[in-house]
Amino acid sequence: MDGFREGPNMLVIDPDECIDCAVCVPECPVNVIFAEEDLPSDQLAFIKLNAELTPKFKSITKRKAALPDADEWNGTAGKVKDLERRPRLAAPPCKPLQGSLHRPRQPMRW
Ligand code: SF4
Repeated sequence: MDGFREGPNMLVIDPDECIDCAVCVPECPVNVIFAEEDLPSDQLAFIKLNAELTPKFKSITKRKAALPDADEWNGTAGKVKDLERRPRLAAPPCKPLQGSLHRPRQPMRW
């Protein structure tokens, strides 16, 4: 099962890695994984979305706890508009050292 990719608030399945074995379908605790041939017609856009996001998201091979607000979002219609397409940074960016940047250059003295 190397086909899962983890984004900030959504998992996708790599269509090139998936062999359509359907093992994951009954394992999904919220019943949102479908074999492609069983995908409801109002969710066909997710085929393209999985392909689009696969190269952007990192591989996940171990079970993790659900996000803290998972129950709140479960079954919410139209939540795709809240999808975060860019991976979150692992750590906040470093702050520049105070006073070390943009300091006017001192003339060199020989
Ligand atoms: S259908 Fe099988 S190969 Fe595809 S993601 Fe699910 S478990 Fe992996």
